[in-house]
Amino acid sequence: MADTQIGVISCSGEECLGGTISRLATRKVMENLRVGKVVSLCLPLYIAGGKEERDFAKVYPVIAVDGCNKCCAKRATLKYSGEVKGTLDLSELMGEDIALSKIVSARDLKEEHYQMVNQIAEEICRKVDQVIIR
Ligand code: SF4
Repeated sequence: MADTQIGVISCSGEECLGGTISRLATRKVMENLRVGKVVSLCLPLYIAGGKEERDFAKVYPVIAVDGCNKCCAKRATLKYSGEVKGTLDLSELMGEDIALSKIVSARDLKEEHYQMVNQIAEEICRKVDQVIIR
C-alpha cells in the first residue's frame, strides 16, 4: 500500500439506507475502482481516539462520505484533523428519503439501491481524482 494517498471516512450509521450505501460505495472504491489509492478509515474508532486513524488523517487527505445531513464523518474529520479535502452528503445527493429509509441490511437491497451504490462510488472517485491531480 506504499502509494496509498487518500483516506475515506464513511458514515457508520446502522439505522438508515444512507449509511449502508455510504459504506458499500466506499468499499467499492477501495477494492475495485481506485485500488491502492484509497484506504477506508473507521469512523467509530476515529471518534474514539484511534491513534492510527487520526495519525493517518493528519498526514494524508481525507474525504468524508455521510449518509445524512448530520454529517458525522465530516464533523469528526474537521474536529480531529482540521481539514477535509472532500465531502459527500447522500441526503443532499439523493434526497432526504435516503436518511429515512429503514432498509439497512445489504440482504434487503434491490437493484435500485445497487445503482445508488454505483453512483455514490463514482462521486467518491471524482473527489479522489480531484485530490490526486491538485
Ligand atoms: S451521518 Fe447520519 S446516518 Fe451517518 S452516522 Fe451520522 S447520524 Fe448516522
